[in-house]
Amino acid sequence: MDHLPSLDAHAHFDPHRTPDELRDAGAVLAMTLSLDEAAGRARGERAPLIAWGVGCHPRKVEAQVKFDPNRFGALAERLPIIGEVGLDTRWSRVPLDVQLRTFRTALQVAAKLSRPVSIHSYSATRLVLDELRRTPVPVTILHWWTGNATETREAVALGCYFSVHSAVARRSIFRTAVPPERILVESDHGWADPPAAIPCRVEWVEHLLSVQLGRPHREVRELVWRNLGALVRETGIAPLLPPRLAESAITPPAIPPDAPSLF
Ligand SMILES: [Zn+2]
Repeated sequence: MDHLPSLDAHAHFDPHRTPDELRDAGAVLAMTLSLDEAAGRARGERAPLIAWGVGCHPRKVEAQVKFDPNRFGALAERLPIIGEVGLDTRWSRVPLDVQLRTFRTALQVAAKLSRPVSIHSYSATRLVLDELRRTPVPVTILHWWTGNATETREAVALGCYFSVHSAVARRSIFRTAVPPERILVESDHGWADPPAAIPCRVEWVEHLLSVQLGRPHREVRELVWRNLGALVRETGIAPLLPPRLAESAITPPAIPPDAPSLF
């Protein structure tokens, strides 16, 4: 798969990684957990295939308590993506009303600026869908989605994309309820993990999806790039992306049928 790099729609990086280390990560939509982290990214140098998000994670107590809507809006003007934001009713110690305040602000800013939003919904799939009805945004990406079939169909009707993690890739809803043109792939790679491990993790999810969808592996990679292109066009964020990433998203090169693959 030399001609089209792996595309990870949701991962995290330790802010101290060097640009060289990030260069080995393939193409990544990189999420941040707090406004402080996002502010560092908004100032930092641009890796050619990495797009940064401004986020406030629903499990991060300090980030949620310190959340400043004006600062968030200013960062969202400079960054192409909003994420990671969302709701979590199982593992978060942040009171739900505080989570809701932050999430609603994030959706309002996404609607105003036309930014895609990468959304955490652990144990809160119903709540997240209710909020998306309340505040429609141009493009939402449901990250590590665990909703049931009914909720999934509802999310599809709302226009959501799904960034599929290996832990959920075998769920049949991604074959029976989600159209292929809404599928993306993610690693949710952690801060401490080496960025060079991402392409392999993405290939593993692509493989699981290729089995589910009954398509060759390379078609899954082409599909997720086309889907990124569609959401870039829908939101008009291309000018905010690194040029190489924008170009690959808008006109992804085809992968030769005989390209080698790990799986
Ligand atoms: Zn994440």
